[in-house]
Amino acid sequence: MKMGLFFDRSIVMDNHQYIEIIKKKVKRFTLRVSIKDNKILCTVPIRASNKDIVAFIGHHQSWIEKQQSKVAALRALHIQEKPGTLLFMGDLYAVHFDTNAGFKGIIDKEDKIIMSTINLESPEQKKQWYKEQALEIIPRIVKIYAERYDFIYGNIAIKSQKSKWGSCSSKGNLNFNTKIMRAPEYALHYLIIHELVHTKYFHHGAEFWQEIEHCYPEWKQAELYLKREGRLL
Ligand SMILES: [Zn+2]
Repeated sequence: MKMGLFFDRSIVMDNHQYIEIIKKKVKRFTLRVSIKDNKILCTVPIRASNKDIVAFIGHHQSWIEKQQSKVAALRALHIQEKPGTLLFMGDLYAVHFDTNAGFKGIIDKEDKIIMSTINLESPEQKKQWYKEQALEIIPRIVKIYAERYDFIYGNIAIKSQKSKWGSCSSKGNLNFNTKIMRAPEYALHYLIIHELVHTKYFHHGAEFWQEIEHCYPEWKQAELYLKREGRLL
């Protein structure tokens, strides 16, 4: 029987695997591998014994390993943002401070440089910067597609939210997640089409996907991106 080393909220298994233990009001033991940092998280009932926890994790070794290599592959696919760089529309830009550049900055797409008078390394300022960009870029693209495919929409809002990429209200108001400005352009275009199609079809039924296929035939790749790599943005 494997023992493991128990700490307050974690356990180090005999194979040196570090696992975070989350005690919760649940009935079942569950395991997941975090896509953000490849950490193994195990949720257990409040009264679970150390012996049961070790046994449960021991039982799921091959699942954990498979899951971890999947997550590692996914993370490798994603462009990693290093200090002094910024992910913008799927490309990594070097960030430079320039007193003449203004808040929104100058974006040199050719050389992948952003010049700005604000500190783009500050999380708050950076968030605001993405929002400004989104407010400028998204309504323009929405307008072009709406005119081309006859969609009628209301207001456009840009919000920082955790899980949703976008939404469309029954009044046709469109809502986009600021984070989409970090995704490649094809994913941004798809998201816009997706929400615009919801102004006609308020569901994800066959007609909805037919319309998506008609307006944006490359949708499958974008949908996959938003579901997988997009989670890392
Ligand atoms: Zn939808």
